[in-house]
Amino acid sequence: MSKHFGGFAALSEVSLEVAPGERFGLIGPNGSGKTTLINCVSGALRNESGSIVFDGAEISRLPAYQRTRRGIARSFRIPRPFKTMSVLENLVVPLEYVAHRRTLHTADTWDEAMAILRQMGMAEKADSPSNLLSQVELRKLELARAMAARPRLLISDEAMAGLAGNEVDEVLKILFDLNAAGITIIMIEHIMQAVMRFSQRVICLDAGRIICEGTPAEIVKNPDVQKAYLGA
Ligand code: ADP
Ligand code: MG
Repeated sequence: MSKHFGGFAALSEVSLEVAPGERFGLIGPNGSGKTTLINCVSGALRNESGSIVFDGAEISRLPAYQRTRRGIARSFRIPRPFKTMSVLENLVVPLEYVAHRRTLHTADTWDEAMAILRQMGMAEKADSPSNLLSQVELRKLELARAMAARPRLLISDEAMAGLAGNEVDEVLKILFDLNAAGITIIMIEHIMQAVMRFSQRVICLDAGRIICEGTPAEIVKNPDVQKAYLGA
């Protein structure tokens, strides 16, 4: 696919495939097009050429909510929870939205919200107002909100930026566990040690083009990747 903003090519004929159940890493310097790519996949933006196929169906002309309903969820780099609501209420809102087509009862929705919080190791924060959360708790809530859409593909956009080492490990473990439960994960991340540990396969973007695709070991020793990151 390609995506322009005015005359500026944010993505130029980027082509990639992610397998069901895969842990896939997307890296690249700031401004290389990572978020634009997932905005096109999730439906926040429309790519102007190319196609996006999810689970055998062309989705590139579907509105974002229909892509969500087909199983694509993404987290945002900057979490924006409903601040006046509790952590649990923040999950009930998207769960009720998703439940419209599944005729769940309200009690089940609250149970499911608690189950997601447990998955995130945040059960004891259920009744906290979300504006009192720490940075790492906000990141976990952001992932929890994406999980409330019951995705089969979860796209995590810099869920670990600004976290301390042990907090990075906590978020990484959550993503490993979700993947073990069958969810395909695309991880966008600047923290190399994390994305390399997590991913089975990695693509590196630079200026809207794929410059390298391979295993983490292949990526880290690739001269083009090193050049992109060092600006050499
Ligand atoms: P990354 O996530 O890799 O840091 P982005 O995908 O956010 O990069 O941005 C890629 C390029 O596209 C940047 O130069 C950015 O300024 C530009 N860009 C992103 N979104 C928009 C937009 N909505 N309008 C105009 N330019 C944009
Ligand atoms: Mg980005």
